[in-house]
Amino acid sequence: MAAPRLRPGMGRLIEMPAALGRLSRAYSKSHAFREVLQLPKMELTKLVCFIGRSNVGKSSLIKALFSLAPEVEVRVSKTPGHTKKMNFFKVGKYFTLVDMPGYGYRAPEDFVDMVETYLKERKNLLRTFLLVDSVAGIQKADNIAIEMCEEFALPYVMVLTKIDKSSTGHLLKQVLEIQKFVATKTQGCFPQLFPVSAVTYSGIHLLRCFIATITGNLKTN
Ligand code: GDP
Repeated sequence: MAAPRLRPGMGRLIEMPAALGRLSRAYSKSHAFREVLQLPKMELTKLVCFIGRSNVGKSSLIKALFSLAPEVEVRVSKTPGHTKKMNFFKVGKYFTLVDMPGYGYRAPEDFVDMVETYLKERKNLLRTFLLVDSVAGIQKADNIAIEMCEEFALPYVMVLTKIDKSSTGHLLKQVLEIQKFVATKTQGCFPQLFPVSAVTYSGIHLLRCFIATITGNLKTN
């Protein structure tokens, strides 16, 4: 796991290579930035959002989560222009799941312009789910998202994807390393990790219950 040493406290917590670093607020003048600010505020809607590197398994996980509750109508709305990379899944009358564009080596600009702007503006965002590939562990690109969550003091949770691909030993090692990272290097990250597989559905039910709990929709009878 590539976990850089962090300076204590909030602010710019994580050192990153220039190519991956969050770009300066000069990008705030871009089309994407303006379009994000024009998105409907959905102030009365409970929001959760999923972010992760491209190919981390975000689409597969969202599909797996929804397939466990086929009785709930999920409406997808797309937005125009640069924000088309964001998907909004309205889950019945319960909450809206915001699927953020995947970030990676070639997407730091998108990330700053859309994800950062959107998350900073949304006061009704209950939790951000940050997806990390359980085989690869926390990568340099993931630090973009971690840094943002820490800097904006967003409550967030790490979800470890594709756990079916690892041996039990490798998975345990990753879980322990990431738990240590969360405990020692983060302030806003929920301590419990959610290891999941969209192939075997392992962990999906627990994650679904957690989302139901934080959105106030867990049925106890
Ligand atoms: P996204 O770019 O983050 O939306 O990632 P996708 O959901 O499209 O998945 C990227 C690749 O990983 C695809 O080939 C998926 O079939 C595969 N994948 C996604 N989730 C899992 C998983 O839980 N287990 C395994 N073995 N493969 C997965």
